[in-house]
Amino acid sequence: MQISSDSHNYNQQTVLTIYAHADDEVLPAAGTLNLMSKAGWNVRCLILTDGSLSSSAVKGTRHQEAEAAGKIIGANYEFYALEECNFSTQAVIKVAEEAVKYWQPNLIITHAPQPEKYGHRDHEVCSIAVSNVATRKNIPLWYSAPPVFLRGFEPNFFVDITSVIEEKIAAIGCYESETSKVFMQLDAILVLSRFWARELGQMEGYFEAFEISRQWVNANFFNAMANISAQKISS
Ligand SMILES: [Zn+2]
Repeated sequence: MQISSDSHNYNQQTVLTIYAHADDEVLPAAGTLNLMSKAGWNVRCLILTDGSLSSSAVKGTRHQEAEAAGKIIGANYEFYALEECNFSTQAVIKVAEEAVKYWQPNLIITHAPQPEKYGHRDHEVCSIAVSNVATRKNIPLWYSAPPVFLRGFEPNFFVDITSVIEEKIAAIGCYESETSKVFMQLDAILVLSRFWARELGQMEGYFEAFEISRQWVNANFFNAMANISAQKISS
């Protein structure tokens, strides 16, 4: 049990991200999480492992790096120490249920489920377990884009993160221990963000892509949609 004891405002909207490793959250979702934080959401990032098996040369620093990234994007972190490449679905279900009970999230974001062979084993187990919990608890659930090997990911929801692309780059830059990874390079981050813009027929701008697994809305949602439509017409 590592859930922090800071005060919980139940009137505030909460997004809970659950990822296997520190850095999994910033690559696909730092911009969106930053926008949510700026809009007043409580942004909680739960990390299942401690990074001790990372292929990077620098060990044991990923939690500090995550907290530095969190300061930039406006997120608070909770860390668990499940064993990398060995944790069970049931272990993640237990962690997720505990976090859901405590934070009562309005939205959960996690890894996209990918068929075996394509995704990281830990990402797959995390995704299956979190999907199980979100479904049983009837919580909206979005899957974020895999860093590479996009097979099986079917994006159907895109967030314009152009206004916070600098924050996203800075947050990813906090993970100094991971800079050797090919998908952590600036060019790859910008290209993928731009690729999602092109998917929407836009030359400019940067986007993050999600696959909505389950989502429900109330009547206010249509007010927000109407505002977006009005902005588009006037721009
Ligand atoms: Zn990972």
